[in-house]
Amino acid sequence: MQVIQSSKLANVCYDIRGPILDEAMRLEEQGHRILKLNTGNPAPFGFEAPPEILQDILRNLANAHGYGDSKGLLAARRAVVMHYEDLGFEDLTVDDVYIGNGVSELIQMAMQALLDDGDEVLVPAPDYPLWTASVSLSGGTAVHYRCDEQADWYPDLADIEAKITDRTRGIVIINPNNPTGAVYDDELLRGLTEIARRNNLIIYSDEIYDKILYDDVTHTPTALLAPDLLCFTFNGLSKAYRVAGFRSGWMTVSGPRDHARSYIEGLNVLATMRLCANMPAQHAIAAALGGRQSIKDLVLPGGRLLEQRDVAWKLLNDIPGVSCVKPKGALYAFPKLDPKVYRVKDDAQLVLDLLKQEHIYVVQGTGFNWPDPDHFRLVTLPRAEDLAEAVTRIGHFLDGYSQP
Ligand code: PLP
Repeated sequence: MQVIQSSKLANVCYDIRGPILDEAMRLEEQGHRILKLNTGNPAPFGFEAPPEILQDILRNLANAHGYGDSKGLLAARRAVVMHYEDLGFEDLTVDDVYIGNGVSELIQMAMQALLDDGDEVLVPAPDYPLWTASVSLSGGTAVHYRCDEQADWYPDLADIEAKITDRTRGIVIINPNNPTGAVYDDELLRGLTEIARRNNLIIYSDEIYDKILYDDVTHTPTALLAPDLLCFTFNGLSKAYRVAGFRSGWMTVSGPRDHARSYIEGLNVLATMRLCANMPAQHAIAAALGGRQSIKDLVLPGGRLLEQRDVAWKLLNDIPGVSCVKPKGALYAFPKLDPKVYRVKDDAQLVLDLLKQEHIYVVQGTGFNWPDPDHFRLVTLPRAEDLAEAVTRIGHFLDGYSQP
């Protein structure tokens, strides 16, 4: 008897670790060295965990083997509240903070507790695809609003307005953005929050790259500009603190929570159903937010991440028919292939061909819910010399590339 997967999975995909990964692993088993530029995972590229974080986990390990509070360790939630108070949030309490096994788990909880079948959520295109997948898995419909490559990948406000219906429940903002590297200024954020205000939308602001900023840009938490709106803010330790494998993130709820009591009760039920988040990793949160082990040294002039961003961006733009908007934040570049130069009908095939020929693994743009097969994403985590070699090889591969 055939066992068929649930129809709930119909629109659920996560191409960052998608089917092409199987081919990459097969090639590795044959002894090939594959340069994996597919996931934003700092550890394999020589980024060490900050010692303070390790110390706090180790010191608490002997007492961290029991279940804990479903919403999270009190000390960790208090550290999150203090962190946001420092940023200007005014009335956050520990009850408004949820700790999760990474932001990923909290995104799924937030969507599951909200959506009924047919409800809509506005999600950027391109997006970090977990958002679209989580909306779909929760019975909702992700309605993609277009980010404009010609305008530094800023969201197109008119497109957002045009896509609002009486089923629209919320809007997802990813800032700094994965995959484009865009960082939104306050004017744009005000435009987005104004749309949410006018249309009664809940704001979901994914700010996991808020400290990974280049070229003097600054980051404003969306919730700070909209204290009168229900806003969920997501962040965690995976990127700025380079400990993605510890699976530790948080979500805060700000704005008029009284109107959302039922939704929050639903969230609390979901938090209890997963019992609690990984306890040892929660001990790292206060150390991370209170300490000096920030990512600044890596993103300021002379910093490794900045140099790598520069190398990738410049060399990508040197390839004929390739253009890349300069990423202002995060860990990625999202270059465009000029359709007049490269005939690409299937960008997953392009990525597979690149993997087989050059042993370089990037992710196709359609994997980020970008509608056209004319982009791919690579991570800017490898050392500058490795990135330079990778991008040069991508250039060789693309030379004359055309699909039948
Ligand atoms: N949000 C964005 C925009 C991401 O890029 C990622 C991971 O790449 C996540 C959330 C998931 O992070 P976590 O490791 O906290 O689950």
